[in-house]
Amino acid sequence: MTTPTIELKPSARPLPAAEREAILANPGFGRHFTDHMVTIKWTEGRGWHDGQLVPYAPIPLDPATNVLHYAQEIFEGLKAYRQPDGSVATFRPDQNAKRFQRSAKRLAMPELPVETFIEACDALVQQDQDWVPAHGGEESLYLRPFMIGTEVGLGVKPANEYLFIVIASPAGAYFPGGVKPVSIWASQDRVRAVPGGMGDAKTGGNYAASLLAQAEAAARGCDQVCYLDAVEHKWVEELGGMNLYFVYGNKIVTPTLTGSILEGVTRDSLLAVARDLGYEAEEARVSIDQWRADTESGALTEVFACGTAAVITPVGTVKTDGAEWTQGDGTPGQVTLRLREALLGIQRGVTEDKHGWMHKLA
Ligand SMILES: *Cc1c(COP(=O)(O)O)cnc(C)c1O
Repeated sequence: MTTPTIELKPSARPLPAAEREAILANPGFGRHFTDHMVTIKWTEGRGWHDGQLVPYAPIPLDPATNVLHYAQEIFEGLKAYRQPDGSVATFRPDQNAKRFQRSAKRLAMPELPVETFIEACDALVQQDQDWVPAHGGEESLYLRPFMIGTEVGLGVKPANEYLFIVIASPAGAYFPGGVKPVSIWASQDRVRAVPGGMGDAKTGGNYAASLLAQAEAAARGCDQVCYLDAVEHKWVEELGGMNLYFVYGNKIVTPTLTGSILEGVTRDSLLAVARDLGYEAEEARVSIDQWRADTESGALTEVFACGTAAVITPVGTVKTDGAEWTQGDGTPGQVTLRLREALLGIQRGVTEDKHGWMHKLA
């Protein structure tokens, strides 16, 4: 298999600096996109080819394209942070590249080589580096690599051609007014993923499956859904797009990976960061009843959710059928804030990167 080098065909008319700066002053999340994108094709018999960096633009698709009907689609999410010396670094892109391969395998799609995934992200960040917010706050450039089946035809089978694309979007601080706890609806009937399904793959289908439950949560005044396991409706799995951690004094616990939980890079990083800070960190099964009982007894001191977009988000109120409780006094807990500070410190380049997680651009 040949690994393509990315041919640079940059835009002759990038957005004027003043307009870009206006966007960077208040980027929000996923609303604005940079001047370029990287595309790489895969065709059966030929493999990966035709890697290009081109102006950001719509992609024409035949109405009978595979992804529009049978949803062969996977994606990733990672961030580039401006470092104190003005350089730019991404956080653990190798982990996203490996997870992208695992997702591809689950959806019967071709696996992009890890080096090519990183090369594509690097090429885009390099070209659009003026879009990486200044060092200082929590702002970053969010990268969204994804792949779709592009074979035209309605026969049900894995596509024989695919398109890999990376786009980038400046992301503001998730909590512009300070870290604020989210409220959670623990659904007893809707499930996100099932054993043997694709819950451990990062694919749009899992998100489509979560939107109705999300609307039901909103109708109950909650910000996010917490999914329980699909068999016993008892074991806590994760939120729609974030993993969960339970804080027991000096120990943090995250649900064991069951195959229906998405293996978050943030989740994995926090196991290490917590241990570095002297906490115990472990994976275990946690039931919804235990969650409630341990909160009421005071043993469970804090709960937080984690993922690339929000890094760490404290959980405040939890509602489920016939019960409701609040973690601590409803304000962000100390351990939650300390871990958040520690991880963001590594990402922003102000704390020692002892695990070698930051990938600096040349
Ligand atoms: C992406 C994602 C996460 C978080 O993973 P990170 O690598 O930490 O961003 C958690 N759950 C689901 C369902 C996700 O899609």
